[in-house]
Amino acid sequence: MVTKLDVVIIGSGPGGLAAGLLAKKQHRSYVILEKGSSIMQGIIDTYPKGKKVYPTIPKGYTDPFPVQEIKPPDERVTVEDYLEQTQRIVLENELCIEYNEEFLGIEGVYPEYLVKGSHGTYLTTSVILGFGSNIPNDLGIYGEAKTVARNIENGEDYIGVNVLVIGGGNAAADVVSSLSKIKREASDSTYVYWAHITEKFEINKDTARDLGEEMLLGGHIKILQRAVPKIGEVDADGIDRLYIHQTSSANMGDDLYLYQGMSFPMKNVIACIGTHGPSAIFDGLDLQQITCTGAICKIAKEGEKLLMLTGDLETNKKGIFAIGGAISPSYMEIGADGMIKEKKHSNLIYTAIVDAKIVMQKLLHE
Ligand SMILES: Cc1cc2nc3c(=O)[nH]c(=O)nc-3n(C[C@H](O)[C@H](O)[C@H](O)COP(=O)(O)OP(=O)(O)OC[C@H]3O[C@@H](n4cnc5c(N)ncnc54)[C@H](O)[C@@H]3O)c2cc1C
Repeated sequence: MVTKLDVVIIGSGPGGLAAGLLAKKQHRSYVILEKGSSIMQGIIDTYPKGKKVYPTIPKGYTDPFPVQEIKPPDERVTVEDYLEQTQRIVLENELCIEYNEEFLGIEGVYPEYLVKGSHGTYLTTSVILGFGSNIPNDLGIYGEAKTVARNIENGEDYIGVNVLVIGGGNAAADVVSSLSKIKREASDSTYVYWAHITEKFEINKDTARDLGEEMLLGGHIKILQRAVPKIGEVDADGIDRLYIHQTSSANMGDDLYLYQGMSFPMKNVIACIGTHGPSAIFDGLDLQQITCTGAICKIAKEGEKLLMLTGDLETNKKGIFAIGGAISPSYMEIGADGMIKEKKHSNLIYTAIVDAKIVMQKLLHE
C-alpha cells in the first residue's frame, strides 16, 4: 500500500529546504524531490565559484529570515560555505530528500494527488512547487549561440583571454567581479568586457558594492553599454565567434551607418541574460495563469503569462502551492476582495524562505 504524505515538495533550493525543515518541525509527513544529485542544485549550477551570498531582504519587507537555519550569514560567506551550512542542516535534521528524482507531473484531485517523478509516484494531500526559474533565456541571435556558457564553471579557464559577459543584472555583475578578481590575482592583463543591451544596468546594493570594490582594486573591467549581440560567425581559423555592436554608431548620411563592433570567440562569452518562468510547466499542470495585456502588468512584459495565486500562494487547484524563484519576478495575486493584481516577487533567498513559511503556516491550520 502507498503511504499518503501530507506534502510533497518539489526542489531542494532555499525554498524547498525551508519548507522541508518546517514540515519536519510541524511533525508532518513530507518528501523533497530534487532532480539534481545534491541539495541546492539550482544554486550550484548558476552561481560563480567563490561568489559571496548576500542575505538580502527586499524593499518593503522588515521581518527577519523566518527560517534562520537556511539564512546566508550576515558576513557574506562564499557560495561554497553557504552550501556547506545547508548540507549540515539537512544532515542534522535528517531531511527526507529523494535525489535524481525529476518531477514530471501531478494526477488526481485534492485531497489525493499523485505526484509523478522520474523514478517513483507519491500520494499526497498537498504539493509545493519550488523548482526555481532556471530555464535560460535565448540570446536571440541568428543561429542561436548554443556553445555560449551561461555561467563560469572554472574561472581559471579564462585567465589569459579577453572575456565577454553579456547581461545587465546581478548574475552578470557577479560573474564580472568574480572573473576580474581571478584575473587580477593572477596578474593577468586581459579584460572582462561587460556588455548590456541598454544604457542602464540593474543591480542591487550588495552586488554593486562588490563590483565597485573590485574596480577600485584595479579590476580589469570594460563596460559596453547599448551593446547588441548580433550574429555568430566563423573566422578564417574555423573558430566560432560572437559579434557584438554598439548602437551609438554614427549616421554617415545617405542611409549609411558606421557601427563599432567587437568579436569574441564563443568559448570566451558568458551570457547571463536571465531565465524565464516555468510557464509551460504550469500550463501542463493546468494551473490558471493570466496573460499580461495592455496596462495590467508593470513588471512582466506584454504577452507573458503569470501564475494566479491566493495570498497563501495557493494556485487555483486546492492543495497545490508555488514558491520562490518559480513565481519571480511577479505573479497575479487574488486579493481578499476578489480583485486580481500583479504582485512583485523578488527572486531572492529571503523571498523563497518567506514563501515556504507562508505555505507551511497555511497547511498547519488545515
Ligand atoms: C548568479 C546568481 C546569484 C544570486 N545571488 C543571490 C544572493 O547573493 N542572495 C540572494 O538572496 N539571492 C541570490 N540569487 C537568487 C537566489 O539564488 C534565488 O532567489 C533562490 O535560489 C530561489 O530559491 P528557490 O528555492 O525558489 O529555487 P532554486 O534555488 O532555483 O532551487 C530549485 C531547485 O529545484 C530543482 N528542480 C528544478 N526542476 C525540478 C524538477 N522538475 N524536479 C525536481 N527538482 C527540480 C533544482 O535542481 C533546484 O535544486 C542569485 C541568483 C543567481 C542566478
